[in-house]
Amino acid sequence: MTTIAHAERPHALLSASGAHRWLHCTPSARLEATLPDTTSEAAKKGTLAHEIAELKLRKQFVEPMGPRKFANAMKKFKADPLYESDMDTHTTAYLEYIQSIVHAFSSPPYVVVEKKVDLGAFVPESFGTSDCIIIGGKQMHVIDYKNGQGVPVSAENNPQMMLYALGALQAYSMFYEIETVHISIVQPKVWDEPSSWSISATDLLAWGESIKPIAAKAFNGEGEYVVGDHCGFCRARNTCRARVDRLMSVEQYAPMKPPLISWQEVGEVLRRAEGIVSWYNALKEAALSEVLKGGEVSGWKAVEGRGSRQYADIDVAFAALKESGIDEALLYERKPLTVAALEKVLGKAEYRKLLEEPGLVRAEAGKPTLAPISDKREAIKRISAADDFKSEEESRNE
Ligand code: SF4
Repeated sequence: MTTIAHAERPHALLSASGAHRWLHCTPSARLEATLPDTTSEAAKKGTLAHEIAELKLRKQFVEPMGPRKFANAMKKFKADPLYESDMDTHTTAYLEYIQSIVHAFSSPPYVVVEKKVDLGAFVPESFGTSDCIIIGGKQMHVIDYKNGQGVPVSAENNPQMMLYALGALQAYSMFYEIETVHISIVQPKVWDEPSSWSISATDLLAWGESIKPIAAKAFNGEGEYVVGDHCGFCRARNTCRARVDRLMSVEQYAPMKPPLISWQEVGEVLRRAEGIVSWYNALKEAALSEVLKGGEVSGWKAVEGRGSRQYADIDVAFAALKESGIDEALLYERKPLTVAALEKVLGKAEYRKLLEEPGLVRAEAGKPTLAPISDKREAIKRISAADDFKSEEESRNE
């Protein structure tokens, strides 16, 4: 069977992966389509990890392959400069999760990998690719692998996954009776256990009906620009006027000195200014690349940043230092890896066995941090003045 490399797959205007965005901000998809699609290194790593995951699933469920063919395919992936050793452990965890679902059925279920699903019945001209679909005993599982660690993705009411599930229902309900849909997101860098959520096929279809008018608006580029968390991965996020206006609207509070604004106003200022620092930095990056391309950004120019000194040849330099009698201890820094870095090197299972289970790692509470009221973490009720002082003292010593 021929498979299309993940990076070369076509994308629908209203993609399932962008659904949380165009469902909230209907004109965003058409606006994004006018901008170049730049792929970040994290996204490229995600694509590579998906290809490894696909290989493992195909070997297990679709087209059994000998160890040599599998080893050769893995060798190619490992030769990719973007390859990281935890891609192997994480995709194996994904495979094991899928195996656990398959083995829980009393008779072998139907398993399909990287299934292109047509979403056109609900979203104009839309389609997507579901990582894995398992069907048996009136149950359907729709599973997605996520390589990222920046943003934890929950399965609950996840529109991308619900769209894949709708597409799968359309494709398979002729052949299988499906009553319940189980959605899972395996994101090993974030969750120890996959995030899972279930919905009846009837409720899922009702949701599909409910989004049809929104999808039609989005397809036509109609509606209001709505700024929110969904702007995070929008291609227009740096230069979108609605977002810039919203971020800059915080200025109206600036002339007021802190003692004059109430805590209620502080809350509003913080809410409006959320993301302003990262947006400003991203906008500067975008303006720099525009200037470097020969474009004009009024009042700005590109200059050479602060340079740094580099060894012409580190081996030759260090050999010369040693030869002249400099003690090696002065030349190298030897420091223990952080717990997080060590977990990455050892892999989760080995890390638990060697460090966590014998009690060699102590969990310490993080410093208090301000979060929006919608944040899922429990609020800290009260903190004593002494603790407050300690945390300030600690931060000074950092
Ligand atoms: S940045 Fe936000 S408001 Fe602007 S188009 Fe994108 S999703 Fe909509």
